[in-house]
Amino acid sequence: MAEPEPGAPPPERRETLRLFFALWPDEVTRDALNRAGKWLHQHWGGRRTRADTLHITLAFLGSTPTGQLDALLACGDAVAAGRFELVLDQAGYWRHNRIGWLGASQTPTQHVELVEALNAALRASDFSVDPRPHVPHVTLLRNSRGGDVPNCEPVRWSVADFVLVRSVTDPEGAHYEVLRRWPLA
Ligand code: ATP
Ligand code: MG
Repeated sequence: MAEPEPGAPPPERRETLRLFFALWPDEVTRDALNRAGKWLHQHWGGRRTRADTLHITLAFLGSTPTGQLDALLACGDAVAAGRFELVLDQAGYWRHNRIGWLGASQTPTQHVELVEALNAALRASDFSVDPRPHVPHVTLLRNSRGGDVPNCEPVRWSVADFVLVRSVTDPEGAHYEVLRRWPLA
């Protein structure tokens, strides 16, 4: 085996983690989202998201060296934002990736402020931030055919915290580990 470069970080510092910041539902919200997934599946088909993986991505980091984890946790610490209620009342479909999702017809100001605070902290620490506008959504269906947009029963989510999540890809698909949770004021 090749010798490590002089001054190279030890192997564990070179490993990467697939990471993202997210809203993670409490049990009651998760059940409601899971029911919404069953309902949308009846309309649009596809593969339903497993209940224990339902979430809203706030900021996607992707593959991140483990050595940057502390800096990322500090970004979470730097965010000051308030609690809010998110009303998910709109089914949506993206043709390009065949995803069926649940979103909000009205995005609360506090949600926008939370995403902006997070992105500002990430940028200040030189993490790259997705330049596309953020569309809050819960992915409910993959490989779905879509169709007419049915009226849906709104899911009311009292958002009291946000999390940093590790995504691990295994043969059955991605599973997630919540690494840290930050309460909102
Ligand atoms: P899989 O990719 O195995 O089907 P997944 O999409 O749930 O599963 P990841 O690809 O690790 O798992 O993504 C984790 C979260 O980040 C998901 O909510 C996903 O929609 C979002 N995400 C993934 N890639 C990006 C990206 N390039 N930009 C923004 N969000 C992303
Ligand atoms: Mg993915």
